[in-house]
Amino acid sequence: MPRTSPRPTRRRGGKNDIKYPRLGSRVSRSMVNQGITVATMADRVGMAPSKISTIRCGYTMPTHDHLVAIAHELSDPGIIDVAKQYLEATCNQCSKVFHRNPSFQRGDQKFCSTICRSRFWNDKVKEEREATARGRVISARRRESEALNKVSELEHELERVATDIYRFCKRCEWDEVCKDDACELRDWSPFPYRGE
Ligand SMILES: [Zn+2]
Repeated sequence: MPRTSPRPTRRRGGKNDIKYPRLGSRVSRSMVNQGITVATMADRVGMAPSKISTIRCGYTMPTHDHLVAIAHELSDPGIIDVAKQYLEATCNQCSKVFHRNPSFQRGDQKFCSTICRSRFWNDKVKEEREATARGRVISARRRESEALNKVSELEHELERVATDIYRFCKRCEWDEVCKDDACELRDWSPFPYRGE
């Protein structure tokens, strides 16, 4: 009988889904300590209770306004700093440290501004274009050198053939004057023709 293993299902609650554990536990602890329920908090800050729950679990990050509201409700401004640590990123273009927009998925925001984003991509396109142009020059040079090699090979072969013809004709005409008009090599012979 084939062994069946449970089908792996993708659902919230996996270790990888918890992106903001320190923020989640700070909010959660503070709410428990102050006896504030999810429903109460949701009501006070104008969010869906399910949103408050996902924040408490560390799955999601509230928007800046909601974050400020939650911190205010809990009288814990430190929550904002905890959240900001998660949003710190270094710009791929100018290397400046900036705070990501929490509504972006983690890691999606790689630039401090749209200017840096377009600069980065413009540079990349330019680099690629230059690389393509360089590649073309290199392959043109390679083709040229291959053609030159071929020419020099043919030159050597011609030299060899000419030497062979000279030797052949020399065996026939020791005085290097051809007397045989009907010879197949007449057109190729290095010797002048003089009929007798
Ligand atoms: Zn930047």
